Amino acid sequence: MKEVTNRRDFLKTAGLLTAAATILNPFDLFAQKGGRAMKGGSKTMVLSFRPYDAQMRHVFTIANSSRTTTQLVLTEITWDGYVGYGEAAMPPYLGETQASVIDFLKKVDLSRFSSPFEIQDILTYVDAIAINNTAAKAAVDIALHDLVGKILGQPWWKIWGFNPANTPNTSFTVGLDTEAVVKEKTREASPYKVIKVKLGRDEATDKMMVNTIRSVTDTIICVDANQGWKDKHYALDMINWLNERNVNMIEQPMPKLLLDETAWVTENSPLPIIADEACQRLTDIPKLKGAYNGINIKLMKCTGMREAREMVTLAKALHMKLMIGCMTETSCAISAAAQIAPETEWADLDGNLLISNDVFKGMLIVDGKITLSDLPGIGVVKL
Ligand code: MG
Repeated sequence: MKEVTNRRDFLKTAGLLTAAATILNPFDLFAQKGGRAMKGGSKTMVLSFRPYDAQMRHVFTIANSSRTTTQLVLTEITWDGYVGYGEAAMPPYLGETQASVIDFLKKVDLSRFSSPFEIQDILTYVDAIAINNTAAKAAVDIALHDLVGKILGQPWWKIWGFNPANTPNTSFTVGLDTEAVVKEKTREASPYKVIKVKLGRDEATDKMMVNTIRSVTDTIICVDANQGWKDKHYALDMINWLNERNVNMIEQPMPKLLLDETAWVTENSPLPIIADEACQRLTDIPKLKGAYNGINIKLMKCTGMREAREMVTLAKALHMKLMIGCMTETSCAISAAAQIAPETEWADLDGNLLISNDVFKGMLIVDGKITLSDLPGIGVVKL
């Protein structure tokens, strides 16, 4: 895998640069680690942003749509010579676009706050500017967290006190496609310990997908039905069939509004059932208790790292399982999400691997496992 090799090389190179910088000058070390771009600078926070189209390596197909690009908006917040990076990713089914994100970001005035350390006040203000717009809000949240982490000189997993040894393996998605392409994609996924498969069409297609993957490998599969199974008895039959084929969890088997039917499926399922489309934000979690075994947290759904951290606490208090997921994103938002990964049982952080024009280097996958670095903030370097 070219990506993985590049990332390992990058880790080695970053280590060498860090070692060299230590000898030269402590300030250079910090700049090299992605911290301060220059000594001093304006103590007024400035938010900037630009649209960016992520190009997909393969046509990406889920239950209801196919696409070759994903719209992104890249953000930066500057303060006192530091730069924090952020990102909004807008898959078409969530209703945000580059235009709507830019309209939202134009309304954000960070000059009214005296310091980036006022994270709670700043993000409460941003959340109140408009309802929804969760990806736009995440673009501010991620850049602010990156900025504050860089000022502190520490990554967020460390600031939060998470143990980086506890990160799960990430899954790698194999989308719906013809048998030949599925076989090819499955072989490409061989460095990964978990394959995520998108089901939710008809029974013949769903079983073809799983049987085709199984003709290539016995690697653990996690299944995302993307609300595709409409009948609870059919959903349970599929889950029982999948349970005999080394599948370890089922994401969003039924439409999100069918809560009672999903609860019945969960009660009878031999595999854990995880909410994705049904769980957007913190306030969704209590009503999902009992209907799902756990939730899939995504920064673009929940407005970013601040609320994701709160969702971890609430879900754990309710004895619900945790997954960290992503949209098609650059290594910026992926690395931000990875800061949460030590607290989760499953991770689906492959969005950056599915695009051909990443603009950051960040979180590494080593032998299939999410591997966090000591780089401050969200742990990225701009390419
Ligand atoms: Mg999903």
